[in-house]
Amino acid sequence: PSEEYESLRRRVYSNTKELWYFVNHELSKLVNDDVQTDKIKSILDQVADRKRSLLSDQEKLPELDGYHEWRVTEAANVSDLVQRRLKYLQNPSDCKDARKVICNLNKGCGFGCQLHHIVYCLIFAYATERTLILNSKGWRYNNKGWEYVFHPISDTCVSVYDDKVVQWPASYDAKVVSLPFIDSISQKPKFLPLAIPSDLAHRIVRFNGDPASWWIGQMLKYVLKPKEETQKAINETIAKLNFKNPIVGVHVRRTDKVGTEAAFHHLHEYMQHVQHYYEQLQLSREVDARRVYLATDDAAVLEEARKKYPTYTILGDAGVAQTAATHRRYSPQSLRGLLRDLHLLSRCDLLVATFSSQVGRVAYEMMQANRPDASQDAVSLDDIYYFGGQNAHDRRAVMPHTALDHHQLDLQMGDLIGIAGNHWNGFGRGTNKRTNLNGLVPWYKTADHLVLYPFPEYRHAST
Ligand code: GDP
Repeated sequence: PSEEYESLRRRVYSNTKELWYFVNHELSKLVNDDVQTDKIKSILDQVADRKRSLLSDQEKLPELDGYHEWRVTEAANVSDLVQRRLKYLQNPSDCKDARKVICNLNKGCGFGCQLHHIVYCLIFAYATERTLILNSKGWRYNNKGWEYVFHPISDTCVSVYDDKVVQWPASYDAKVVSLPFIDSISQKPKFLPLAIPSDLAHRIVRFNGDPASWWIGQMLKYVLKPKEETQKAINETIAKLNFKNPIVGVHVRRTDKVGTEAAFHHLHEYMQHVQHYYEQLQLSREVDARRVYLATDDAAVLEEARKKYPTYTILGDAGVAQTAATHRRYSPQSLRGLLRDLHLLSRCDLLVATFSSQVGRVAYEMMQANRPDASQDAVSLDDIYYFGGQNAHDRRAVMPHTALDHHQLDLQMGDLIGIAGNHWNGFGRGTNKRTNLNGLVPWYKTADHLVLYPFPEYRHAST
């Protein structure tokens, strides 16, 4: 399929959703108002029916357009290529001689945040052709270090020998550089997310609707390889669960996150998406049970879900949730629980989460690594997808727009808008880089602006 065809197909799909967000939001505002309430509710229900039918039909397109097999194969091929390149980079023929970058796993934050720290280091390594050395002694999730839980990120090269370590920013010649946290990096390199390699970009966009998170998912795929004992423990608990598709993954992040870094969201806000998912699915197939995998750091949410949603089959483990709570979080046991949750969330048909949480974003990135395209398989109640510390995320105006009120922005074709977020009501907020004005933009008149960067091409790794 051509790039144009694929992007058009995805655009029609996501703009169908945007149309629904808009109508739903505007009509819902009228519901409390007056005597017409029942009428409006009935209209909303009927529009929702039509939306589900449209989306359900569109979901059949990639199955029926003759390119299904091609997408699966191409996604696997590009992924293999990236994995081979990383393996090549991480196992230089002469380790002593190799240029290196050091990454310290001493960031005082949760596992999702630490994983993203490693991803940033690995992208840096890939971009600068340096082997990544991970320092993880005294790691807060396992004192003994990363290698006691996961396979090492290199089989042959794990030491900088006696070489001098220079703090980045450093010259190209510096043999060993040490990286600061992404939040405090000066001279932020252009290759950091959401940039993707130009030599792969035109292949990725043909099978995936969100190449930036696909690329990050590939970094995770390389580093997140649990050791046998860890994998066995995960598999055993999974076997007990009766985890089956179709299933919707829900991640509810509470405890320390709420009120500090994210707003509180009621369970019904998540479950509304679950309900819509199953109502739509029933248009094309029979659904034996409405399964939900619920991961959370607040065990009370599991109890609430089972009590309030008796017609749903809620899978989840209160014990895991308890060890995930703020005060019990940093231990090998809690890490095992989290790995299980992440693994299962990433295996779900749909993920409902808050992307303000790194756990939610990691689950989505892992989805991107286990299917050709997960870009329509996740719903965030708050932020759109981002990578902490990323370079500007822009959308491009693909239609002109004349502001309808003083909250909205004027758009000319081709304008770049630095995006702050989607309000899930048909509009997003951003800054038009041509006029420097900040305001609301109708999301459907914009398209994601991909950033390509000329990463090295690792020609030796391809053979
Ligand atoms: P964020 O704070 O949500 O952005 O994500 P972090 O990963 O940086 O820190 C949150 C930490 O809380 C995680 O790493 C886990 O240790 C724990 N946690 C949060 N949500 C869950 C969950 O659903 N399941 C489990 N097992 N742990 C969780």
